[in-house]
Amino acid sequence: MADYLEDVADLPVRAQVPPGAIANSLPVSPPRRGEDMETIFSDFRDIVLPGITHWQHPDFYAYFPANSSPPSVLAEMLTATLGANCMLWQTSPAGTEMETRMTDWLRQMIGLPDGFHGVIQDTASSAILCALLTARERSTGWQANRQGLAGREPLIAYTSAEAHSATVKGAGIAGYGRDNVRLIEVDEAFAMRPDRLEQAIRADQEAGLHPACVVASLGTTGVGGCDPLRATAEICARYGLFLHVDAAWAGSALLLPEHRAMADGLELADSLVFNPHKMLMTNFDCSAHFVRDRDALVRTFSILPEFLKGREGDSVIDYRDWGVALGRRFRALKLWFVIRSYGIEGLQAILRRHIALAVELEQMIAQADDFELMAPRSLSLLNLRYRPSGMTDEAELERTNRTLLERLNDSGRVYFTQNLVKGRFAIRWSIGQTRTERHHVEAAWALVQRMARCA
Ligand SMILES: *Cc1c(COP(=O)(O)O)cnc(C)c1O
Repeated sequence: MADYLEDVADLPVRAQVPPGAIANSLPVSPPRRGEDMETIFSDFRDIVLPGITHWQHPDFYAYFPANSSPPSVLAEMLTATLGANCMLWQTSPAGTEMETRMTDWLRQMIGLPDGFHGVIQDTASSAILCALLTARERSTGWQANRQGLAGREPLIAYTSAEAHSATVKGAGIAGYGRDNVRLIEVDEAFAMRPDRLEQAIRADQEAGLHPACVVASLGTTGVGGCDPLRATAEICARYGLFLHVDAAWAGSALLLPEHRAMADGLELADSLVFNPHKMLMTNFDCSAHFVRDRDALVRTFSILPEFLKGREGDSVIDYRDWGVALGRRFRALKLWFVIRSYGIEGLQAILRRHIALAVELEQMIAQADDFELMAPRSLSLLNLRYRPSGMTDEAELERTNRTLLERLNDSGRVYFTQNLVKGRFAIRWSIGQTRTERHHVEAAWALVQRMARCA
């Protein structure tokens, strides 16, 4: 593990194997007799490592980071060793009580007022599903769980056209139906338009449908757009809708007081999620889910067969009632290790360093005549494309940039994601890997220019 972290920068960032290569190296049947660990480990090196895309590589600029850190890795080793299932207080009192305390530390760290209660979910997608389900129960008088949704007017959810697909996916699972998610138009800053949201809610009400939930975004995945939370919350209050805020990526930036303005009105939400497993040095998976009305969440999920009853009753928290799964990992431990090891100031310094790198990169891109930014920088996220003078045809620009992106990723030196910004192909560059330094970004930018210009 230590060797890997020492050498990861020398490995190709995105796995360079063709589909099927790893499967073909694995025996089709399980071994009859046990094998020794030396053999297993040497196969791990020879078979598994070449098939890994290295998320801990300093030139990982794709998606969002899933950054780990030494204290987090150590805590994960202990979690694995303990192998505890933290479904009930009784099945792991320390797991439960630490989860309560750690989520409250996080609440304070992002400036969320007292009165929000935290729980750790596996992913933001799960937290969004929890929000949709809570909204469903609340708006059906707690009947949908019992009776199903047959015979009712469809429930409607609202999110912006730029929002993460987790809301549409969750709406399908939660029984709203994917077609009953309204994708609300965004403004030129990629923020959901409150006037359009209100119009859509009214139109649905007038049509006899059942508006139930708004999922607002603080930092959309494509370009990092931030919805106006205060205006959105006022609309939700007026029409009685549940408001969930998806801050999966950008929520970590709320550790920085200078970036809190984007979250104005956040305290009016019914729930929110952010992922310490993206930019906050905490190994995947760890999503911090906060709710204002914990009874509503628990009422949505609790179910109590005899074998799950504990003698402690209501005096303790049983987190199995706070989400979909029964069994739960001891995830709070890595937060405890990370937050204590870095301190708030240490984490702030890392976040500020990554954002500063993106600011520098933005300036370098702006100075290159043959490149353009496709959207304003959001925190440490940029979208750009190559546009040499004379190339104006959109189809040709798309082809050129698509090829450029493939060549960059195939080189093994860097890894970016593709994006569509207002329908135009863009190379999406997200900074935030634990080990990314200025020299990495500078070398990556030089490579992008070189490859673009010597097509
Ligand atoms: C990453 C992301 C998600 C999904 O996160 P998971 O934890 O992988 O489910 C949802 N919304 C936004 C805005 C994201 O950036």
